[in-house]
Amino acid sequence: MRRAETSQSPLRPRDLEEARARLSEQADRLRSQLTRAEEAASALRADCDLDAADAGAKAMTLRELRTRTEMDTALLERTVAALDRLRAGSFGICAECGRPQGRERALALPHAELCVQCAEEREAGPGG
Ligand SMILES: [Zn+2]
Repeated sequence: MRRAETSQSPLRPRDLEEARARLSEQADRLRSQLTRAEEAASALRADCDLDAADAGAKAMTLRELRTRTEMDTALLERTVAALDRLRAGSFGICAECGRPQGRERALALPHAELCVQCAEEREAGPGG
């Protein structure tokens, strides 16, 4: 099948360029999201003039902001690590088994460090 062939073909220089562009864009977007979330959180904390209902809503919003910040931070770390792998020439190689991740996956999820198989095994394994 043509599709299977494509997913197994090695990454070309143009693919690496595309992945680099997408990762840089993603890193920039995450950094500005994190800055905005930080600003929103400190604005919320600074706002002391609240009744009980508002305080409850504020606590919830702060929790949501923290959850989102944690997710964004984790994704940013993976994105930066993928950019490092691009520079080091190990992009698209599974960090677990050392096999190529496949062109399709590397381009669809450029920040992924594992191949599909290892990612599934890790998810199924203890500790998630
Ligand atoms: Zn693997």
